[in-house]
Amino acid sequence: MPDICEVCGLPLGIARGNRWLPNGVICGSYPPHIRGTLYDLEELGRLFDIFSERVGFDISHLVVEGKRKDGRRFCDSFLREQREGSAPRMTPQQVYQTVCRFSLYWGLGRVNVLDYRRGELLELAAENLYNVPMFMGDAAGIFESLEGRRGAPAWEGEDGDGIVTVRATAGRPELEERIESLLEQGVSVGEEGDLHHRRCPGCGAPEGVGRQFRWDVAAGTIHERESGRRYILHNTNGIVAVVRALRDELGQEAELMMAEIVRELSRGYYRGMTGRSSIDAELMRYPLRGWGWPYRLKAKGGTYSVKFVNPYCSPMVAGRVWGMLEAFGERRVELVSIEESGGKLDLLFR
Ligand SMILES: [Zn+2]
Repeated sequence: MPDICEVCGLPLGIARGNRWLPNGVICGSYPPHIRGTLYDLEELGRLFDIFSERVGFDISHLVVEGKRKDGRRFCDSFLREQREGSAPRMTPQQVYQTVCRFSLYWGLGRVNVLDYRRGELLELAAENLYNVPMFMGDAAGIFESLEGRRGAPAWEGEDGDGIVTVRATAGRPELEERIESLLEQGVSVGEEGDLHHRRCPGCGAPEGVGRQFRWDVAAGTIHERESGRRYILHNTNGIVAVVRALRDELGQEAELMMAEIVRELSRGYYRGMTGRSSIDAELMRYPLRGWGWPYRLKAKGGTYSVKFVNPYCSPMVAGRVWGMLEAFGERRVELVSIEESGGKLDLLFR
């Protein structure tokens, strides 16, 4: 059994392995301090589906390619840390097993190595997988990093249960190279922030995290206690790369379309909370999820202005706030402007 904080229920590996910074960012405690986000999986899954419907083609391949680069980058830096550290060097099989163990803690699902042939094939048995195209990308990227060969991922299964197979292949499509260069740009993180988290006396993580989320490490799942919705704690870069790829493929409207889809999902979600919560209380939950820090909300003469530092992904955050204002205000709201620069986001609604 994993070690669990007796006070708040957070796995100690999560409390030790991550830092909640005073600027709305969650990042790894150890180099290279990769930024992480608690993602609402229903939102992410529905977003990709509705987006595909609206643009008239399946965007899964963009999701796979975005996550492939993210997975490779993650594994490359993991291997670099291993080489520089004093621990005995791991075999590829041990690295795959370590990643499977991480998956349990990040809520990605239960994953086990079924079959492995060096440089040729990786077969993973999965249960409760968080998102099939995203995980296919993860698996292919990690394979690529360890084997030094491109891997083509395939899926056989139903819902989140099944088998992911990665087979070595040749070629590097143009799309993949573009996503690679986008990933290099990463997510900008501003230093600014004097947000105070009340810490759990048991594990030192902000106490709101364990209060809001229930980790089931054996099942490889994380759920929001109140709504029962499933979440994952995962790299911020992956989704940002996917969003940028969509914008490149479809133009600027892609971001607005994304904000509009998230707005509708968000409105439905927060409608169930009116009377029990408030705009301010909900905004205060954002930093615990690594969504950024909404440091100013101003309502004046029928307009709302919301200022953020370090939004994890601007269209997603804009859509969330938009739907939330509509749900709690019980009326339609218009997004007047969305301005983004240097890790800051200014939103104006009317
Ligand atoms: Zn705790």
